[in-house]
Amino acid sequence: MRYADRMNLLGTETAFEVLAKARALEAQGRSIIHLEIGEPDFDTPAPIRAAAIRAIDEGFTHYGPSAGLPEVREAIAAHIARDRGIPVAPDQVVVTPGGKPVLTFAILATVNPGDEVIVPNPGFPIYESVVRFAGATAVSLPLREEQAFRFGAADVEALLTPRTRMIVLNSPHNPTGSVLTPRDLDEIASLVKGRDIWILSDEIYSRILYDGVHETIASRPGMQERTILLDGFSKTYAMTGWRLGYGVMNATLAKHVARLATNVYSCATSFVQRAALTALGGPQDEVKAMVAEFRRRRDAVVAGLNAIPGVTCAKPAGAFYVFPNVTALGMTSAEAESALLSEAGVAALSGTAFGSAGEGYLRFSYANSIENIREALKRFEAFAAGRVRAAR
Ligand code: PLP
Repeated sequence: MRYADRMNLLGTETAFEVLAKARALEAQGRSIIHLEIGEPDFDTPAPIRAAAIRAIDEGFTHYGPSAGLPEVREAIAAHIARDRGIPVAPDQVVVTPGGKPVLTFAILATVNPGDEVIVPNPGFPIYESVVRFAGATAVSLPLREEQAFRFGAADVEALLTPRTRMIVLNSPHNPTGSVLTPRDLDEIASLVKGRDIWILSDEIYSRILYDGVHETIASRPGMQERTILLDGFSKTYAMTGWRLGYGVMNATLAKHVARLATNVYSCATSFVQRAALTALGGPQDEVKAMVAEFRRRRDAVVAGLNAIPGVTCAKPAGAFYVFPNVTALGMTSAEAESALLSEAGVAALSGTAFGSAGEGYLRFSYANSIENIREALKRFEAFAAGRVRAAR
């Protein structure tokens, strides 16, 4: 059988492949600590679960509008207006099954074949995958450890060409946990002003922030029209498997994105959308408790990694990942990922799963219990000890 050429352009997320390998080892009786997958290990808060069950009983089991239920678009518009300090009308909101469709549809709706899209490297691999699928070119914006994995307007400016159609921002950032400062946002906003460039601002980790207040580039003068703000329920409310996210964009683009939704999945699940009203409108104490626990784990994992001879780890300001420098192991990141899993039973991701600039790094997700994190650190230390000495 023949398959379409465009399938060669589509990438993937290797987290799911490492998870499958780790599960296969577990099935053989091996003890594995999972630090590969990016999802909160907490249960979805009980009031949200109860709201979904109620919604099923009340008959929210049918198709709804492709852009989302009107009351949910309204609630999200009010939430973003309050949280980000920008005016948002319900017709600027599209509710989607997870945050991912927002980025895919936004790129398909704004980027032509031959255009260029600037993407962070290392970065969430789906950006480059979708850009290529759309026939465009992904231009790497390297994020360096020396710059705390942030970047400034000058780094972006050096990559601009007449073909640049979009810049992808992701703050807090997967996989490094870096956060762009308000000044970084000011400068990037000034840079794109007057140019025909979209900003895809992936803010899925907006609530998992350890210091300061999350800001969006959409709040900068003139930026709302050209910014697609992506956020959702997966990470904030431990709802990864429910599949619910949203995009906030100008109303014309929202119509294009909703038309793509009609063509692909018709609408996000109706009773899940109803439960989202409880997530946004209900008490937020479980979110706060979850972030406090992530902070405790972050501090433990950063201290533990920096105590391992040859390993250095920057302290992330948001999300639930660390991105330690493991060049001293004397092996490639992909080799380290594979050996760490098979020899030490610790599932982590190679930095190169997030782009070429991830060489020399591993990504550990600390969405796991503090006991498991401590055990993983012990195993990693033993794994690293001989190798660091041998590589010297
Ligand atoms: N954006 C980033 C940076 C992510 O890390 C993820 C999930 O890992 C997503 C988007 C997608 O989130 P969702 O599960 O809501 O589709």
